[in-house]
Amino acid sequence: MKSAWFVAFCCTLGSTAALAEITGAELDAAAASLDKRVIEWRRDFHRNPELANREVRTSAKVAEHLRALGLEVRTGMAHTGVVAVVEGELAGPTILLRADMDALPVTERTDVPFRSTATGEFRGRTVGVMHACGHDAHTAILMGAAEILVGLRGRLPGKVLLVFQPAEEGVPEGEQGGAPLMLDEGLLDVAKPDAAFSLHVGSLLPAGTVALRPGPMMAGSDFFRIVVTGRQTHGARPWSGIDPIVAASNIVLALQTIVSRDLDLTAAPAVVTVGAINGGVRHNIIPAEAELLGTIRTFSEKDRKEVIERLGSIASGVAAAHGATARLEMMPAPNPVLVNDPDLTQVVTESLKRALGMDAVRASTLNTVAEDYAHIAEAVPSVYWWVGVTPASQDPSTAPDNHSELFYVDEAGINVGLRSLLHVAVDYLQAPPSR
Ligand SMILES: [Zn+2]
Ligand SMILES: [Zn+2]
Repeated sequence: MKSAWFVAFCCTLGSTAALAEITGAELDAAAASLDKRVIEWRRDFHRNPELANREVRTSAKVAEHLRALGLEVRTGMAHTGVVAVVEGELAGPTILLRADMDALPVTERTDVPFRSTATGEFRGRTVGVMHACGHDAHTAILMGAAEILVGLRGRLPGKVLLVFQPAEEGVPEGEQGGAPLMLDEGLLDVAKPDAAFSLHVGSLLPAGTVALRPGPMMAGSDFFRIVVTGRQTHGARPWSGIDPIVAASNIVLALQTIVSRDLDLTAAPAVVTVGAINGGVRHNIIPAEAELLGTIRTFSEKDRKEVIERLGSIASGVAAAHGATARLEMMPAPNPVLVNDPDLTQVVTESLKRALGMDAVRASTLNTVAEDYAHIAEAVPSVYWWVGVTPASQDPSTAPDNHSELFYVDEAGINVGLRSLLHVAVDYLQAPPSR
């Protein structure tokens, strides 16, 4: 009798808990009540930005917050990465939510009261440091989401792997880091996610809106170096040497034909950019060498391979036509194409429309920028979306872009970002799509 009552009581409790689904209104109310603190965190990070692989203060703040929430926190992953798991008390799937923490070597020129005056060392030079890509907002948003999810743990199905990632913008020369290093260090063994979600604030959308697309979302990026070798001589007697600067100049022009002549542009766009030309020290010396540094952006492995192959053959062919030689070096740590899982994108789009309204959810174009989160998205079905942060009164096409020294985050977009992440996460956990 006693045990039957006990069973009945347990079942009543169990079904009550199952019925008390977490609602969207509840998530919005929680996000609203935390809004001020999320913005305080963001401003604190903004005032104290740190370069890639140097996010010591930022990660300490994150770890302190997560510990205060009662979570078991793993620090020092991929140098300064912080990871924790929110364990819901109901059975369910596991998801990964990721924020990046690093800032850029940019001297801030906005006039916000929490403007950065920080400096750091980049390639041996002292540089200004600024959260010019909005990773301060991402970190604060995920800290807020962590707090709200912990508060809902009693009715939360499944687990949430919180990932605060260093070095999204690329690592200092000779170092490793970012998403690939976190994966190498066993990120997905901490809790094996069924799905992964991440977002990025962007200047190209007004605050209050988000944008995403199924399939390729951001380009794969590669960085290259071409060294052109000639023969040094007096600038007044070019015929007695081989001029690598003229050869390099022709290589830069000839590389323009890779995208315009060799790729099927009806399938996907691509970019080949030479961003630096180095060679020579003085007006009347033809140097022995010239160096070109550049990047390629592609949306498929096929295009990527073709561009790299054409880079090499154009560089060596054009150099040979000038009597010089050219050597192509591809830099380590390319980013793969960031792909949104098509089925999951549909599910997430529905969540976002319910959370933010139909008009707030836009279709993203292809983006030729890149993201090292693409490594995580290769390993786990994933969706990634843009969150607008340009003031509604301003034309986004004229707003200073991400990475600009004038990049500005309308903080109304931060609350939208937090709500978008919470709704997507909780919707997935409460009603995981069958795969
Ligand atoms: Zn960036
Ligand atoms: Zn970024």
